[in-house]
Amino acid sequence: MPRALRPATLLVRGGTARSSFDETGEALFLTSGFVYESAAQAENTFLGTEQHYQYSRFGNPTVAMLEERLALLEGAEACRCTATGMAAVSAALLSHLKAGDRVVASRALFGSCHWIVSTLLPRYGIATSFVDGADLAQWQAALAEPAALVLLETPSNPMLEIVDLKAVCDLAHAAGAIVVVDNVFATPLLQKPLEFGADVVVYSCTKHMDGQGRVLGGAVLGSKKWVEETLQPFTRNTGPALSPFNAWVILKGLETLKLRVDAMCRGAERVAEFLAGRPEIARVLYPTRADHPQRELAMRQMSAGGTLVTFDVAGGKDACFRVLDALRVIDISNNLGDSKSLATHPATTTHMRVGAEERARLGINDGTVRLSVGLEDVEDLIDDLAAALDTLGRN
Ligand SMILES: *Cc1c(COP(=O)(O)O)cnc(C)c1O
Repeated sequence: MPRALRPATLLVRGGTARSSFDETGEALFLTSGFVYESAAQAENTFLGTEQHYQYSRFGNPTVAMLEERLALLEGAEACRCTATGMAAVSAALLSHLKAGDRVVASRALFGSCHWIVSTLLPRYGIATSFVDGADLAQWQAALAEPAALVLLETPSNPMLEIVDLKAVCDLAHAAGAIVVVDNVFATPLLQKPLEFGADVVVYSCTKHMDGQGRVLGGAVLGSKKWVEETLQPFTRNTGPALSPFNAWVILKGLETLKLRVDAMCRGAERVAEFLAGRPEIARVLYPTRADHPQRELAMRQMSAGGTLVTFDVAGGKDACFRVLDALRVIDISNNLGDSKSLATHPATTTHMRVGAEERARLGINDGTVRLSVGLEDVEDLIDDLAAALDTLGRN
């Protein structure tokens, strides 16, 4: 394919590898294994002197099409897909780290990522520390000592805090660390962490890439050397392989990713604007809004503010639950990036287990709602929110 194709084109055509049947759509190779023409071909394949698929835990043609499409989109040399986003994060971390290493992470991480850093890694003799991702002085202090790996998320879940990618990558590299960015909230269309110096980018393909509530999947992207020498031995031998069927669903999801993300960003901006004008709402967070404390940084790193809006309902948990329960179009769910708009109450669901003290530190209160804006007509979403907020005026 010609070089430098634009994202919308890559999303439809990138990585497509036709079989001998010349099919238009990407073929679904639902097979666990592969056969060899001869014993010598099997031997050569295992020696690595001949390229041939061996076993779908190691590689599969449908999964490889997805990996190639994602690598082209990200501008990364290589990609490996995994069964879930968490398999991608844990493989990226565990393949790189060893006992005695040190990890520095931003505090505002997806719940399971936080558990891996705070609970799992220390069990294997890896020291970990958390910083407030928006505070460069804390990164500077934590990275004054040598470290092996930095993990961060920007915008963060659920408070949409922005981490300065360039500044943190420079500090991390000086400390000897690689930087792993969980880019789920921004999607590969709105933010390219590799361009700011990140070494590895991870995704949950479950979110915007499928984006239609069907399958789980994950992806890890980085240099060819790191992927082949560090990540791949780990994934081949521990087995977090993505099902070819799920890879095929995600490939089809990618074809519409740009259309969906663009529409969802427009919807999110409108919803944020509407919410900011309502007296029942104490605070609205959306990265590119004039009132976001890190707007300038967000605009430098991202081409749009994203598909999520976070807001606080005044009056705490009771008022917040009344609003959530009164929604008739928007669903209550802990997922995000879906074509259906989904509202989450982090304090009692996704962030229940981090504890009240940590929630307070993250800025999550009992009235906080994370809204993932979907593809419905935005006027219907605004009507739904307006009607739900109106119930607070009644007894
Ligand atoms: C959902 C999510 C994950 C985990 O992905 P799964 O596919 O659910 O395993 C990791 N990081 C972020 C930011 C997410 O939103």
